[in-house]
Amino acid sequence: MALPERILMGPGPSNPYPEAMSALGRPMLGHLDPDFLAVLDETCDRLRTVFRTANPLTLPISGTGSAGMEAAFVNLVGPGDVVVVGVNGLFGERMCDVAARCGGDVVRVETAWGRALDPQQLIEAHPAPKLIGVVHAETSTGVRNDIEAVGANKKDALLLVDCVTSLGGIDVAVDDWNVDVAYSGTQKCLGVPPGLAPLTMNERASARRVARVQSWYLDLGMIADYAATAGARKYHHTAPVSMIFALHAGLGAVLDEGLEAAWGRHAECGARIQDGLEKLGFELLAQDGYRLPQLTTARLPEGVEDAFARRALLERFGIEVGGGVGPWVGSAWRVGCMGNTARLRNVAAFLAAVEEVIRW
Ligand SMILES: *Cc1c(COP(=O)(O)O)cnc(C)c1O
Repeated sequence: MALPERILMGPGPSNPYPEAMSALGRPMLGHLDPDFLAVLDETCDRLRTVFRTANPLTLPISGTGSAGMEAAFVNLVGPGDVVVVGVNGLFGERMCDVAARCGGDVVRVETAWGRALDPQQLIEAHPAPKLIGVVHAETSTGVRNDIEAVGANKKDALLLVDCVTSLGGIDVAVDDWNVDVAYSGTQKCLGVPPGLAPLTMNERASARRVARVQSWYLDLGMIADYAATAGARKYHHTAPVSMIFALHAGLGAVLDEGLEAAWGRHAECGARIQDGLEKLGFELLAQDGYRLPQLTTARLPEGVEDAFARRALLERFGIEVGGGVGPWVGSAWRVGCMGNTARLRNVAAFLAAVEEVIRW
């Protein structure tokens, strides 16, 4: 069956970098083959560069972004541990669910959809939480939460950050911001197909891991051996070899371009989308000053029918955009512009197509 080529402007997956797609077709190697292990080592080094960390424990978890979330929580949260979670969208909600399943005593700090979390409220929510969990880029609302301000004042708490939609698209500085554990996903701003969850954890968090991790598969004490340097590496599970080739190559494309240049490209595309949509009568829903360039939430102009317009974009123009979620189902769009999608030619095609479709 022939499949169409799309411009992927939903919340993910984005269009991958061509380097990542062609790496998927490299000859298969055994997962303990020294030539594969050299690629894995270099992938972990490249992840340290994009996370801006020196953490030795930095590796791709097998599974999508949510597996990174689960790995971070299940290794750090046990029964009765107090966990403060910032909730201003779907992924903050997911954090609460995962933390509660680990037995955590969850303290929610909520803010309305479309607004950024108040760092001071997160700090003051509990006198001595074990952990504070925050989503950096809320893909459901298009809002950026301020991580640096939480990291600067968190005292003894561990800071856990979801970087699924931020890594590779906007500045992420794990070490400078005092982030103790962070995870991401491959299919958003990193421009790699879905399937891996890059994760990094510092020594401070490692020393406070739970004694007996409830998950066998995601127990970092065991997985760490798999990402250890060549001699110390032991079998835990079969590495998804081809996906690691793709991540290695995608990170190579990002680093060849330069992290700051990649952030600049996302910023320029996002600004043009937001400006263009406003001119077409859409209303931007994320708080000014906290808007993500890589994910725009916008209320549809009066009289434009959501399902009809999105289907027309997809079928007539080959452009996918995401529908609204939560309170914005049916009334707003989520327009992603991430990874290799973040090109001016895609932005121009998108805005021209939207202009046409909303007049039908
Ligand atoms: C996409 C996303 C996830 C989940 O990632 P999956 O790859 O769908 O499992 C988690 N957090 C945020 C902020 C996301 O955007």
